[in-house]
Amino acid sequence: MSNDRADISGPVRVRFAPSPTGFLHVGGVRTAMFSWLTARHYGGQFILRIEDTDQKRYVEGAEEDLKASLRWAGIEWDEGPDVGGPHAPYRQSERLPLYNQYAHQLVEMGCAYKSWSSAEELDVERKAAAANHQPPPLRDRWRIATPEQIAAAEAEGKPYTIRLKMPEEGSTSFYDFVKNETITFENSRVDDTVLLKSDGYPTYHLAVVIDDNAMGITHVMRAEEWIASTPKHIRLYECLGWPLPMFAHVPNILRPDGRGKLSKRDGDVKTNEFWEKGYLPEAMFNFLVLQGWSYDEKTELMSQAEIVERFSLTRIQPSPARWDINKLNWMNGHYINHILTVDDLTRRALPFMHKAGLLTEVEALPGDDEYLYFQAIIALLKDRIKVLSEVPDLTGYFFVDHLKYDRALLLGKDKNAISVAQAS
Ligand code: GLU
Repeated sequence: MSNDRADISGPVRVRFAPSPTGFLHVGGVRTAMFSWLTARHYGGQFILRIEDTDQKRYVEGAEEDLKASLRWAGIEWDEGPDVGGPHAPYRQSERLPLYNQYAHQLVEMGCAYKSWSSAEELDVERKAAAANHQPPPLRDRWRIATPEQIAAAEAEGKPYTIRLKMPEEGSTSFYDFVKNETITFENSRVDDTVLLKSDGYPTYHLAVVIDDNAMGITHVMRAEEWIASTPKHIRLYECLGWPLPMFAHVPNILRPDGRGKLSKRDGDVKTNEFWEKGYLPEAMFNFLVLQGWSYDEKTELMSQAEIVERFSLTRIQPSPARWDINKLNWMNGHYINHILTVDDLTRRALPFMHKAGLLTEVEALPGDDEYLYFQAIIALLKDRIKVLSEVPDLTGYFFVDHLKYDRALLLGKDKNAISVAQAS
């Protein structure tokens, strides 16, 4: 149970906090999986929180997709939307007053400031900086506004944003328990990020800190692209006097050639594409966990229960894994052939037959003749199946009316029946 690097001395509380901005990328499932495994292996809770505060990027139906994708992959949450919990609501758009209250408290404490800079003004500044090959300005001019200027702007009643006031001096460091290194940022190079937008919605940076604290999160595990945000978050924890969680940033899954992050240019990357193609969730879980974690460098086939048992945070690899679809196909074929029972395989293959119009749902109910006939075909052909969506093509000729062959023979599992059918 000991895991000093990640300081697991008591029950853990971990979370997956996706934004409903599109379909769930398999890399996201893998990140969720690491947190879920942490809760299951070390003992604790896994929380699902929906970070839906970016109204512009909100995609209708994305929350449903990501919940279905997680459940399909075998990841259930102990607290979150649908299941509730002691820190409900778990959807950020339902927690707005909390963020508002803290944003104003931070202003009063001198850790944040109000800005009346308009979007146009900021755009002009950004473009001017870009024209001079400079990065966008890190500070807003309202950071140094006089009390009179602020009072005048308040009196006008115009909308404002609230921005973090990063100290100019010093640096912020944190230990990353997956990278196993201390990462340091000079405060003077961290921007005064917006915390509360003029529409009253928080940005990710404010909401994530408030919620991770409120929900008692002990270990924050998230994708690598958030590393540069962590000093901003730490500043907020410090200002509010809250204990810091442990942080880890999980490397992205790379494209097969190692050049850049796996993306849709490389084929399927959305979780729902895999289930629609007929990958088995057991194989997907096994495969995905190995894209960035290993038990002993050699064991590949493991059930979810074995992975929970053998999981260790210190064996998440700090270097990125490359996507290996051939391995997934091999693994899926292995689960189909050697792990599922024929009956289980048949049941899972049936929806693909229904979709292809080869068997109707009424025709093939488990246990009836049509089902047993299909099951016998599956038993004979299963070593050829890599993904379930191939089943209609592989078995289709058995369901063509004019073919004459002896179903009784097939039910007796006589391979000759297949050659008769193929020859007809
Ligand atoms: N909402 C962020 C995302 O979708 C979560 C980042 C985090 O886990 O802190 O990537």
